[in-house]
Formats: sequence, C-alpha cells, structure tokens
Amino acid sequence: MQLIWISGSTDRVRKINITAKTIAKIIGIVCAVMIFLGVGIHFLGLRIAIEAKPDLARAMGGVITVAQLDSIEAGYRQRLDSLQSQLVTLTEKLNELKSLKDRFADIATPAPVKSKLQESSGGKGGPFQPIQFKLTKPGSLADELDYTLSNAQLLNDSIQKMGATWQSQYAWLNQLPIGSPIEDRLGLTSNYGPRIDPFTQTMAHHAGIDFSAPVGTAILASGNGKVSKVGRDPAYGIYVEIEHADGFSSKYAHARATFVKEGQSVVRGQKIAEVGSTGRSTSPHLHYEIARHGNTINPMQALVYTNRIASSK
Ligand SMILES: [Zn+2]
Repeated sequence: MQLIWISGSTDRVRKINITAKTIAKIIGIVCAVMIFLGVGIHFLGLRIAIEAKPDLARAMGGVITVAQLDSIEAGYRQRLDSLQSQLVTLTEKLNELKSLKDRFADIATPAPVKSKLQESSGGKGGPFQPIQFKLTKPGSLADELDYTLSNAQLLNDSIQKMGATWQSQYAWLNQLPIGSPIEDRLGLTSNYGPRIDPFTQTMAHHAGIDFSAPVGTAILASGNGKVSKVGRDPAYGIYVEIEHADGFSSKYAHARATFVKEGQSVVRGQKIAEVGSTGRSTSPHLHYEIARHGNTINPMQALVYTNRIASSK
C-alpha cells in the first residue's frame, strides 16, 4: 500500500510505502514508548504519592525507607530484650523456689535417709542442675529471636523435669514413717534406749518410744505403706506393723482394737488402731517402734521434729 499526501504551502507531495515491515516497526515503537511511559508514570506517581500521602503509598507499593526499617527493628529488639530479661528473672525465681523446696524437703526427711533425698526423684537424670537462661551475644534480630526461642524451650523442659522430680520426692517422703503415730502427740513417757524395765525393775533396752494417752485415742499410720502384720503378742499386746519405702517399717503396740487388715494399703494419718493397755503394759499408752532393714532405730530420728536453727535465706 502507498500513502500519498500533499503537505504545507510548498504543496510537496509525500509518499510513504506502507509495508508489513513498516507496520510491525511502528507497533514496536508504540509498544516501547507505552512501556517506558507506564514505568515512568508508576515511579513518578509513587514518588508524588510518597510525598503527598506517604503511609498509603508505602502500604500500596510495599516501600519502606531504611530509617523506618531501622526504627521497626529497634522496636522489635527492645521487646526481645524485655522478653529475655523477663525469662532471666523467671529463671532466678524458679531457682529460688527450688532452693526453698530443698530446705522444706530437708526438714521433712528423716536423718537416716537424708542422702537418699536426691535419689528419690525416680532416677530422672541425677542431681537437679540449676535452671539457666543464657543471654545472647548481640547478633541479627532473627538469630537472637531463634536463640531466645530455643532457650525458652530448654527452660520449659527444665521446669517440666523439676515438677516431675518434686512429685517423686513428695511421693517418696509420703512413704516414710515421718508423721505422728498418734492423734494429739502428747505425753511422751518413755524414750528409746536403755531404761529400767517397769516389770522386772532391771536395765533393759527400750526399742521404741511410748506415748501415754487415754484409752481409745486414735493410733495413726505415720507414713504411706502396706500393713504387714496385725497380731497379738504377750509382750506387745494387740499390734499393727506397716511396711514403708526404703526398708522402713513401723510398729504400733498395746492397742485395744485395730481397724486394718494384713496386706491393706494405708496412708499417712489414717486411723489404724486405738490406744489400749494390752500385753506388757502398766497403763494405756502407744508403744511406737521404727525399724530399718529389720533393726530398730530411735523413732525420734524419723519423726519430723527439727531443732535446727532456721535458715533466714
Ligand atoms: Zn514401750
């Protein structure tokens, strides 16, 4: 195709040959111009928008300045620092609680088995280590965040382990004969060791302690365990024996009546018998014995009496 037109005052005749190639060229040029124009308008528009309505423009364009990025990061870092210092404080408080618990457990543990207190945690990985929360050396925000997260996870694991350990120690202590064997623990009339036998008037070893009490006073299991014997004996009269943890057993003698059967499980404080004066007894009392691996020990060593000077810490 050929276009012919006359232009200007000189009436020059112009001719252009329109071929497929020319059309393609024109389309190409138009497209390029459009693209450049589009891109130009986009950036110019954004630039103008940033100046006119910066927040909207940034939100729409996903644009952020370096200063803003720094300020956002500083905000997150401040919050991360605060989280870390709270975790450190939490760790310190937990260690204080642990130390307080240790002092309670120490008071509640009979002297002969104090060394077993730590073992009594059900073999959960030896002595308990203090909980630690380590602060990071400053690194990138993402690294510090990851580090804090993994430390918080470790802290959580330690707390769970601590809870399990305390639970086992508590269960263990409950199985020891460290409670009172009688309601209203009054009237201790005879101590463990050598004494003049009230019947023979000669020196004899007294294998337990005696609590003088009115007939019918409740005799209580001094720790959780299993009743190993309910019997009658010329010396002990009517008696109950309980097996506890760690080789401990307790014996309650001269009862007038019993309320448990052999093989029965009992808990600390449970009424197992009533004070009487059966067997070799001159007046109503409870004769209370504790044995460990078959040998009697002074029950005062196991009873949770403490005369130590209280720690102020
Ligand atoms: Zn006695």
